[in-house]
Amino acid sequence: MIVYHPSKVRNVVLLGHSGSGKTTLAETMLFESGAISRRGTIEEGNTTSDYNEVEKDKLKSVYSSFMNLEWRGHKINLIDTPGTTDYSGEVLGALKVADTAIFVLDAEHGVEVGTEILWNYARKYKTPSFFVINKIDHPNADFQRTLDLARELFGRHVVPVQYPYNEKGDFNAIIDVLKMTMYEFPKNGGKPDKLPIPDSHKAQAELLHNELIEAIAENDEVLMDIYFEKGTLGENEMRQGMRNAMTNGDFCPLFCASALRNMGSGRIMGFIDNVAPSPMQTHPDNSKNGKAVDINPDEKTAAFMFKTVSEEHVGDLMYFKTITGSMKPGIDLVNHSTGGMNRIGSLFLTQGHKRIEVPEIKAGDIGAVVKLKDAGVNDTLHEKGYECVIDPVEYPEPTIRAAIRTHDQANEEKLGAALNQIQREDPSLSIEHSQELKQIIISGQGEEHLAMVKHRLSSRFKVDVEYYKPGIPYRETITKAVRSHYKHKKQSGGAGQYAEVYMLVEPLMEEMPEYNDITVRKTDEIDLPWGGKLVFRNCIVGGVIDNRFMPAILKGIMDKLENGPMSGSRARDVRVSVYDGSMHAVDSNEAAFKTAGTMAFKKGFLDANPQLLEPTYKVEISIPAEFMGDVMSDLATRRGQILGMDSEGSFQTVTALVPLAELYRYATHLKSKTQGRGTHTRTFDSYTPVPGDIQDKVMKETAKLEEA
Ligand code: GDP
Repeated sequence: MIVYHPSKVRNVVLLGHSGSGKTTLAETMLFESGAISRRGTIEEGNTTSDYNEVEKDKLKSVYSSFMNLEWRGHKINLIDTPGTTDYSGEVLGALKVADTAIFVLDAEHGVEVGTEILWNYARKYKTPSFFVINKIDHPNADFQRTLDLARELFGRHVVPVQYPYNEKGDFNAIIDVLKMTMYEFPKNGGKPDKLPIPDSHKAQAELLHNELIEAIAENDEVLMDIYFEKGTLGENEMRQGMRNAMTNGDFCPLFCASALRNMGSGRIMGFIDNVAPSPMQTHPDNSKNGKAVDINPDEKTAAFMFKTVSEEHVGDLMYFKTITGSMKPGIDLVNHSTGGMNRIGSLFLTQGHKRIEVPEIKAGDIGAVVKLKDAGVNDTLHEKGYECVIDPVEYPEPTIRAAIRTHDQANEEKLGAALNQIQREDPSLSIEHSQELKQIIISGQGEEHLAMVKHRLSSRFKVDVEYYKPGIPYRETITKAVRSHYKHKKQSGGAGQYAEVYMLVEPLMEEMPEYNDITVRKTDEIDLPWGGKLVFRNCIVGGVIDNRFMPAILKGIMDKLENGPMSGSRARDVRVSVYDGSMHAVDSNEAAFKTAGTMAFKKGFLDANPQLLEPTYKVEISIPAEFMGDVMSDLATRRGQILGMDSEGSFQTVTALVPLAELYRYATHLKSKTQGRGTHTRTFDSYTPVPGDIQDKVMKETAKLEEA
């Protein structure tokens, strides 16, 4: 394959619900273009796109895969993506580098769950998009119903360019209202005959043709004038008009196909090379400071890294899009985020699992490189002295959280290394080694996402794991001021230990009271690593406690804050004033004062109406209206506090504050209660007081654990 100028490159991502036929459509396009000589099928597990063992097992895509083909002098890069929201990390990476999105809809099932979410992603990236209603041959296919639904959900910008002449088992012809032609396919698909539109369809085709032209000209004054004057548009005007309207998000043409029977893919590829924008014609990627970076092959070189896969024996394969200049083996590029240098090695295009070495990958094009020294997903690499940086992909907040452990302790270290590797490849996954909970917490985009991690750990890293309920990072604080006293005295043989401390323990607030009998000599304000503050005041007068023992008292308090007096969780937001005490000339030392500090603080804390706090999340739930009642009453049982409601099309959104403790497996629960159609997002909001009965329960559990 030769090197292409960006004007001849088309980067296309296939989006749509799992099972709508994306992989089959990609296979058909590759076959029709001559890129492959035999069409694989999902059932036989030999498609170009679903080459991974996991994908063959599951009969569906779980990673995005990269293919390319040549069509009439253009290079089309095709990115096949997994359909469910569990793999949105893969989808967002692909959308970031694509210049056109094809939404594949299923004529049997209509517009399915998840397509709306993908649609919103594409809107966010302003990716010019078009639709293909696939499976027109299916016994239950219904083109019109699917089109109506698409227009209802995605707006009237969805305009048919084609409709099937016949559907279901008889399907063999498509009426194209842009070309005003009928395409009739041979029995086994492939290249169609171009026939005049049959009389019985002429009126309908005419009507749709005019609607199409109006939709193209609608947002373009010059075109509108031409259209009014001549009653039609020329081919060049149409092409330019369609491209502009697509790029502005005002026009989403719709095609139809049977990928399985190889009917319709040629016309789709023709539309891609003829109308879909080249990388130079779409909205440019923005740099960090908001300045646009245009695709330009004549600049110095910069490339954006958007996906990495680790393959045995070869190491990490990094996929990139060249933004400016040209990627060539042997050039040295700086990683903008780390400053590290990378020498570029061999460059590849990939056709599923197959790699094709190429001499150069110009601006606008997508390729892969092995063994980069210092580069991760979302990094921009550029020539030294040439400042260029592309905004990173932003992944959605995880919606599911679980603790993970190995079946046997011997594998624990292996688990850490394997999880690191998996996270490098999939930044939409978050892994936390929580010191506080003494657990490894893994957070992902859904049940299936976590199941996939488990599968990969077992098949690729030979580590078997199980998920279990994760702990809650509670916090502790107090609600009233108390004075506390502790005398630590030990006289058992040899050297004794002696320390006595008086302290005032108070909840930290914006306005703090002062006291006549307490003279403040020194104040330390400490930001606690787990959030909140400790204000520590030395109020000792007359030298009753030596200055050199104050750090030990503080250390004693810090220890107790880290291992809270109520439940062993982190404590926060207290002011401690040490105002009296006593020493012994021989037996007082740092260890003794540390103990006295800990004990006086613990006693004071427990007397000061302690309060357990829990992490609370702002949750946005999106559900079809008919499930509203169920979801609301379920939220009430989860101690949810409703903040607002909104409706968007046939969907309702509910925003609520919900404690993390009540969100365990919520994504899965919501899916099962809403026939798979409900989704939610969550972001940490604040720490809020835990109700009394739950606080008692947590404290009892802690006491039990301590005893054990
Ligand atoms: P993806 O998950 O969107 O990539 O969908 P696949 O390409 O894996 O297809 C899902 C299933 O639909 C497979 O069993 C395909 O054989 C089948 N399929 C794909 N395209 C068509 C089509 O045009 N007609 C029919 N009848 N089945 C199709």
